[in-house]
Amino acid sequence: MGGQISVRGVTHVYTNRYTRETVLALEDISFEVEQGEFVCIIGPSGCGKSTLLYLIAGLMRPSMGEILVDGRPVTGPGPDRGMVFQEFAILPWRTVWRNISHGLEIQGVPKEKRDEIVRHYIRLIGLEGFENKYPYELSGGMKQRVALARTLACNPKVVLMDEPFAALDVQTRITLRTELLKISLQLSNTILFVTHSVDEAALLGDRVIVLTRRPGRVKEIVRNPIPRAARDEHTMENPAFIEYRNHLFYSVRSEVQVAEHEALVRG
Ligand code: ADP
Repeated sequence: MGGQISVRGVTHVYTNRYTRETVLALEDISFEVEQGEFVCIIGPSGCGKSTLLYLIAGLMRPSMGEILVDGRPVTGPGPDRGMVFQEFAILPWRTVWRNISHGLEIQGVPKEKRDEIVRHYIRLIGLEGFENKYPYELSGGMKQRVALARTLACNPKVVLMDEPFAALDVQTRITLRTELLKISLQLSNTILFVTHSVDEAALLGDRVIVLTRRPGRVKEIVRNPIPRAARDEHTMENPAFIEYRNHLFYSVRSEVQVAEHEALVRG
């Protein structure tokens, strides 16, 4: 299927168009993601997580370094990479069914094939019975399911998810997180998932990339001690998992504390 990602020596500087002031967002980021892997990226707020995802999506070009998907340099957005955003990126004037089929229509997939694919993802994501609803009739959790189904229907090799559950209430967030874990077992897509929630990253990621405070650098890359197929809502009680989760927690917290200290010193 493909979906192998190589990030090599990526540095990104934002320049304010008017004042020419610069912000060093990411510095010398390198990592590899295997095809079919589920990798989470965590780090303190403002450390460059979204920036990294946008660079891989091809929405911006890195100031230095290169990004390859299946050995080909990323030079812009492409159908091999699909993105799911925090805000529900669905079309309000289309029903659930027609939202999910939208990307396939653009690609010119014939109606019969399209319907088959949409039906598959409606079932996989748990949207049965909601096919003819409009987004305004749906809860936040359901809207985000539609956004996910819509991205998956186009079968991108890489699914890039930027805090997809951040706007949801805690209970919905926990439910969707566990469901995404189950759904991912039936997918062969590579998933790169940005979150500031340690619990989310620990549960979902086969590996977790921890970024330092800004400028974001790779602090460490940690492998989940529990294989994805064995992870579920009870994993939280597994001692090996607790140790792993706590390791991630302190790794991120120490970055937040240093950042707060530096801000205090700067005044
Ligand atoms: P995160 O997703 O980890 O919260 P971001 O990638 O959104 O971090 O941002 C990283 C840093 O880059 C932040 O300090 C942010 O203020 C800055 N930044 C993000 N977008 C821009 C922009 N368009 N112009 C200038 N600075 C930006």
